[in-house]
Formats: sequence, C-alpha cells, structure tokens
Amino acid sequence: MISDYGSLISTRAAWGRSVTATLVITLGTGTALAHELPLGDGKISNGPRKGYVFSCQQNFNPNAPGAQASGDWLGKTTWDPEKKPHVGGNVSWPADIVISREGDNRVVRANNLPTHATGIFPIQRNDPGYRYDRNPNSIEKQDIVLQMPAVPSFAASPGCVPMGMVGFSLTNVAIFNALDARGDDAPAHEIQDKCSGHPQQSGQYHYHNLSPCVTDTKSQPGGHSDLIGFALDGFGFFGKYGENGRHIKNEDLDTCHGHTHTINWDGEQRDLYHYHMTEEYPYTIGCFKGTPVNVPNSMSAGLPGGSEAGQGPKHGGKRNSGQGGPQQALARAAAELGVTTQQLRKAIGAPPPDFQQASRVLGIPAKQIRDAMRKARGQ
Ligand SMILES: [Zn+2]
Ligand SMILES: [Zn+2]
Repeated sequence: MISDYGSLISTRAAWGRSVTATLVITLGTGTALAHELPLGDGKISNGPRKGYVFSCQQNFNPNAPGAQASGDWLGKTTWDPEKKPHVGGNVSWPADIVISREGDNRVVRANNLPTHATGIFPIQRNDPGYRYDRNPNSIEKQDIVLQMPAVPSFAASPGCVPMGMVGFSLTNVAIFNALDARGDDAPAHEIQDKCSGHPQQSGQYHYHNLSPCVTDTKSQPGGHSDLIGFALDGFGFFGKYGENGRHIKNEDLDTCHGHTHTINWDGEQRDLYHYHMTEEYPYTIGCFKGTPVNVPNSMSAGLPGGSEAGQGPKHGGKRNSGQGGPQQALARAAAELGVTTQQLRKAIGAPPPDFQQASRVLGIPAKQIRDAMRKARGQ
C-alpha cells in the first residue's frame, strides 16, 4: 500500500528536469493527432450539465483581459490545437512537491513550479504568440498547502466550479477550469506554452486542459489511465483513457466530468469516483462531486478582475491600491493591456487620450483600452 507519494513525486520531479530536452523534441515532432475539437464558448451552466462548466461565476465581462486576437486555429464551432501557436522557450524550474497521507487526509505541499520545462513568460514581443496574447505575467513560486480527504465522499449535491485553481497536478502545476476571464474556452483562445500552461497575475502556472507534458500512462487494470492529479475535493484526476483503454468522451462521463468504477487508489483496488481530464471541453471538471477545500484568495479568481485574467498586472494586488499619480495609472493600464507604458503613452497621444488611434496602433479594442485606463485611475 502506498501511503506516501513523496518518493514517487520526487522521482518524477527529477526525471522531468533531467530529460527536458528530450521531452521538448518529442513534442516538437507532433506526436499528437491533428484534429479539431468542439469549441466550448458559451457552455456555462447554472447547475450540473453534461459538457458544460457549472460555474460559480455567472456573469463575465466580454472585454476582460485575455487573448486580443485569434488565428486560423479557431473556427466558429471548433478549434484545432495543432494549428495554435505555442509560447516558445525551454525554461527549467526547481520543482518541489510532496504529497503525503496524514491520518484521513492527503496533504499536498508544493511550490507550484512545474516538473517539466515551460515557455518564456511574460510572452516576448518576438514570440509567435505575442500577436494573439500578450500575457505579461512571470511564473512565480507559490506556497501550496492542500489538505484533502484521502478517501473523499460525495457532497449532498454537486458544487459549482470557481475560477482559479480547481485541482493540482502531479507535475506540480495548478489545474484550473475550462474558462478564461471572459468565460470563454480558455485552451481555445489563450496562448499557452507547449505544455498547455501559462501563469496568471500572481504568477501561478496552471493548465486549463490535459497537458501534453503529463505522461498519460495506462497501467491501471484494462489500460485505464493512471492518476495524474487531485481535484480540490480529494477525488483523483486521471488521464484520457477509460476502462477499455479507449479515449474518454463527455458521453462516457457524468455532469461533473467523472464516473465510478474500480481503480487503484493508494495501492488498493477500490470502487471509487474519479474525474477524467480529456481532450474535450470542459477538459477538467464540470462540477465538484465532493466538497472542495478552501484555497487562499490569491489563488482563486472568482471575483471580477480576478487573477485568471492571465493578463493583469504581475503584482496586481500591490499595485492596484488606487494610489499614485497619472504616471502610475498609465503604467497600471499598460500592464493590464500587456504593452509598455511608453507604447501606451505614444498610442493615446497628448490629452485627451485618443482611444481610436490607440486601438489602431496597439491592435487592442478601443473599449478595452478605455476600460483599462478607467480602472487604473480607480474610476
Ligand atoms: Zn475512469
Ligand atoms: Zn489561464
């Protein structure tokens, strides 16, 4: 019986660092199948519904920060992950994650720095992804402590899914829901690195879908995927292979994106509920079957202007105090828009600001620029 994931995780972390180059080369040759996926935009529900995110946040600002353009990978009803550009780079991190059983709990202590290499963030101006998404955030170490039930049980009814972290991957990466700050299909719109990850405004690196850098091994009975992480309610996340070893689809899962059958859980065969991460929206979970543990506010983003923007100021909490003169306000607005202060100043021209001109120069909708400047001034 495995009562402690510590040694397993340390091994994985070391492995992730040592074979970084190989990993990236393998991905670069395009081992995944080229195909289109249904676009999840608008699939938000106010109760459990298959193929939807039962979102705690029901109203989204369509002009919230995020990707500012889209390309040929995005169709009206589908998107093609093979065609979408990735943030370049090959940055290694000192991953530190220990998962242990402590009595009836499973405790995750982690610095949230991935066991695999990442792209270079903030997205660099010469990056192929920059024209679509100017994520200005850097990847920063977090202080994750999650204390979840080791053998979780169902809540009285399924719970809604917050913005921000909904689970944690064994690759030391936060798992978010399928939505970007506008409530759209995040993996389809946002530009991520080759591992499908990117940082939000407090620097938390996260996935919105199944990362190609998570090795989806199938050593469970019947060729079922292995454990790849935990949801905040303690139930496991498994990969995209079901009981027959075939790709799981939404129709195989319940409204929360999981199901119950016999799995290997802490070294025992158990008939236990679990989620599957799949290639199909909502990718992670649709709702919580159990009761999620609380996470600190800085790691969630349920509030308007919250951290899932992926585009907010790097240290938004500190800088957004509403203090400072016009220069600081301009700098805050620039950070929010993912441009430099100089670029923004030049684009809007001498007072009063010319938002139409700025829109043409920066390639950002005029309303988004106006809103960012209002917000930066505390209006
Ligand atoms: Zn399963
Ligand atoms: Zn994100």
